[in-house]
Amino acid sequence: MSSSVIDLLATEARFGAQNYQPIGVVLTRGEGVWVWDIEGNRYLDCLSAYSAVSQGHCHPKILAAMVEQAGRLTLTSRAFHNDQLALFYEEIAALTGSHKVLPMNSGAEAVESAIKSVRKWGYEVKGVADGQAEIIVCADNFHGRTLGIVGFSTDAETRGHFGPFAPGFKIIPFGDAAALDAAITPNTVAFLVEPIQGEAGVIIPPAGYFKAVRELCTANNVMLVLDEIQTGLGRTGKLLAEQHEGIEADVTLLGKALSGGFYPVSAVLSNNDVLGTLRPGQHGSTFGGNPLACAVARAAMRVLVEEGMIENAAAQGARFLQGLKDIRANTIRDVRGRGLMLAVELHPEAGHARRYCEALQGKGILAKDTHEHTIRIAPPLVITGDQVDWALEQFAAILTQDLS
Ligand SMILES: *Cc1c(COP(=O)(O)O)cnc(C)c1O
Repeated sequence: MSSSVIDLLATEARFGAQNYQPIGVVLTRGEGVWVWDIEGNRYLDCLSAYSAVSQGHCHPKILAAMVEQAGRLTLTSRAFHNDQLALFYEEIAALTGSHKVLPMNSGAEAVESAIKSVRKWGYEVKGVADGQAEIIVCADNFHGRTLGIVGFSTDAETRGHFGPFAPGFKIIPFGDAAALDAAITPNTVAFLVEPIQGEAGVIIPPAGYFKAVRELCTANNVMLVLDEIQTGLGRTGKLLAEQHEGIEADVTLLGKALSGGFYPVSAVLSNNDVLGTLRPGQHGSTFGGNPLACAVARAAMRVLVEEGMIENAAAQGARFLQGLKDIRANTIRDVRGRGLMLAVELHPEAGHARRYCEALQGKGILAKDTHEHTIRIAPPLVITGDQVDWALEQFAAILTQDLS
């Protein structure tokens, strides 16, 4: 079998479900902020697998933990205890200040698990009549791809022809606390929201929004569920994005960088009440909390803190944002971001963002368009100042061209 770029792309197209349209680069190796394609070209990764590779590609300490654990014990199922789970619980609870932890695998599973848990909490603790629980979510949300989740998406591509969907969700505009106030009823059990809407194009809510949201949730005994699967674990320059808002969620969802990109690991973190409602046999996952996942996640959390990646995200994020703002180009409509979660929104007349991403590839930068006119920028949190400056030169060279 030949493995030229053309052959590999043709084979993918022939056998694979066509549910993605990747940029035409075939990667074979990664180290830190860099990835290499099969022809030996090097790129600065400005996507980090949608923030899953925050610790940098193939971080040596996470790799060592994974290899060591893989040679010892990988999976027991939760029918038996394993000697990594307790340590994972203890360390993630200490890191995030949580009381209870539910380990899962993908981000979507964490979201689904939170939905199940807050509904159960609503019936058994809040006293909502069975079957009546309501969960409020935001327009333009992204919480994953399972049937339960896409049912409350507002994106036509995401939902189209996948119904019928589960009832019990109410959609309000993001960033509008008055809309939340108006939507809450005695049956509302939770408000599920991203601190910054990532897939929607790095949408940062107005100052004070989350303070007001927190007050409304507390006043109405509604669980505030923050989906920090993308924003969490240092991406925005703080451990959790909620810290920028000076609030604490009742339920926090983590995923992606929880494993540094080695393995799917997610978690639901909550106060005692919400996860406390789950009893044996009521929820589970064969792979959730397995020793390999726990060992990898423990190492991924450790290097994040020990190697100062969160502080670095704040410093390099500020440098990157300022540098993008300093680019004088007619193509640019808006530049925004927090920490290393950044976006450049192009004027509609500038053409599709994908063209700019393809041009950036030619300059040694891999970035991803979202929603036609936005280029999302999220390099690994280990990026250095020199690397930021080099990336900015490449962005300036491409954004000052008209690719419409
Ligand atoms: C990626 C993401 C998810 C889904 O995670 P998967 O691991 O792809 O299932 C959920 N919420 C947010 C905010 C995300 O960015």
